[in-house]
Amino acid sequence: MKRQSKQSLQNMLAEYKAVTSPNVIHQLEQLAAPLKGAKVLHINSTKEGGGVAEILHKLIPLKQALGIDADWEIINGNQEFYQCTKGFHNALQGMNQSISEKLLRNYEKTNKENAERLNSKLKDADFVFIHDPQPAPLLKLTPKRRGKWIWRFHIDASKPYRNVWKYLREWIIPYDASIFSLPEFAQPLPHPQYIIAPSIDPLSEKNCPLPEHEIDNVFSEFNLDPELPLITQVSRYDRFKDPVGVIEAYKLASKLTPLQLVLAGGGASDDPEGEAVLNEVKQASNGAPNIHVLLLPADANRTINALQRASDIVLQKSIREGFGLTVSEAMWKGKPVIGGDTGGIRLQVIDHYTGFLVRTPEGAALRTRYLLHRRDKLEEMGMRAKRFVRENFLITRHIREYLTLMVGLTSGDDERINVGKS
Ligand code: UDP
Repeated sequence: MKRQSKQSLQNMLAEYKAVTSPNVIHQLEQLAAPLKGAKVLHINSTKEGGGVAEILHKLIPLKQALGIDADWEIINGNQEFYQCTKGFHNALQGMNQSISEKLLRNYEKTNKENAERLNSKLKDADFVFIHDPQPAPLLKLTPKRRGKWIWRFHIDASKPYRNVWKYLREWIIPYDASIFSLPEFAQPLPHPQYIIAPSIDPLSEKNCPLPEHEIDNVFSEFNLDPELPLITQVSRYDRFKDPVGVIEAYKLASKLTPLQLVLAGGGASDDPEGEAVLNEVKQASNGAPNIHVLLLPADANRTINALQRASDIVLQKSIREGFGLTVSEAMWKGKPVIGGDTGGIRLQVIDHYTGFLVRTPEGAALRTRYLLHRRDKLEEMGMRAKRFVRENFLITRHIREYLTLMVGLTSGDDERINVGKS
């Protein structure tokens, strides 16, 4: 990954100080001191699309700003590889999915090739963070490793399809630790497990403040009606995100309350099912004039930021969700979120307080109409939502927990860990 200059990394810390507080940054500097110069390598399967890439784009420079030698690599695979890993993803989120021996052998072969390509980085790193199942075999394929290896799992594995988990578990067992986003996702494994929720970056193009005219521009750019209330869901076109359920909710709500819906999505390079789901969505919307199905390029961060800010309410009606960064993104912009009552959405949407949790399109429609008719409640929930994200889901909290974990893993059995000078 391209490194930023020392000056720009220092400026970055000053900016985080302004958004959070000097104490928050001071604490990070203290925790990072014993890790100065440590080689930390993160590996996942895509630089574009999806929450993991979104997080790593910001986490790596922030670690570098704190004096850690952080780096990010992705593993490359062919279409069959992504077909297999999408199968893992679906199975781990509870779908009954069988994966052929041929796909499994290709998965192993692909990991072997990547292990050879990345060998020197893998064996020299002090810490290797492996994200999700795609690169999980890299540990066993790097016998001469010296660092601590941590498996970071981002999806909702509360009820995995057992056959697939049994296969993957063998790759995970030798790790030094694993990280899950919620306690419910943790699995029986013979090493320490940590619970760390993901986060958003308040300084990123996706979340930074925008001038009014840039927010207003989305109405003309996407042919939206500035007079109609706007509800939006931002997501990859994935069945677990239930975009068709969102359309049903919109149809029910709009029978009684005029409004418009934006479904904003793009592909992730490691997700082969996006196109099929997009077609299902287009079919469900059936050309309705107030349903806008957008396919955005991977770098449309400011556009997504503007769409979230232009919306009255943001939906994330997932039926399974590891975390759902889009929820915190919207809440950070002072929007109440109507979210599926599942996984990581439950961490962020406190029902009736920062938004509403729903299980059905009918529920989503009911809550949408309620909020559009009770603007006072909408505003109040939005304000609480922003505060809740500031306190819990910013990148500064996330990195603090990563640093604590790394310091902990290097401290062996010591009962007390000293950080800082005194
Ligand atoms: N996203 C994006 N473009 C899109 C759809 C999503 O940039 O067309 C972003 C979204 O804003 C969020 C991330 O991708 O930052 C998705 O993360 P989330 O945790 O919500 O879901 P995942 O895709 O990882 O399941």
